[in-house]
Amino acid sequence: MVNEEIKACPFCGEKGLLCEGEIDGSKVYYVYSECGVSTGASEDKARVIELWNNRSEELLPCPFCGGKAIESEVEIDGENFLTVMCEECGMSSIANKDEARVKAAWNARTVKKQE
Ligand SMILES: [Zn+2]
Ligand SMILES: [Zn+2]
Repeated sequence: MVNEEIKACPFCGEKGLLCEGEIDGSKVYYVYSECGVSTGASEDKARVIELWNNRSEELLPCPFCGGKAIESEVEIDGENFLTVMCEECGMSSIANKDEARVKAAWNARTVKKQE
């Protein structure tokens, strides 16, 4: 049995929407939020749901160099914020106090690199 429960979007809190599309004549699925965040497309419906549900927890590799992403703390005006940065090239995501949001921002940037 596939668990089709889709978690709320880590950016806007709206429910993720399962969408269908077509690539080269094959039916594909992806999960999308109205704020514009989406997973990659796959023929495996269970996999895209899993990707979406896990995206706020697992860090994807760096979109520039493929290096390992790590969480780190930064201090801005005397306050501590969390950010995600690449161990190799030093690229970092937004700094925010909300860990899930910081991780989601990193992962979203990786997926949307064609823009
Ligand atoms: Zn959203
Ligand atoms: Zn990197």
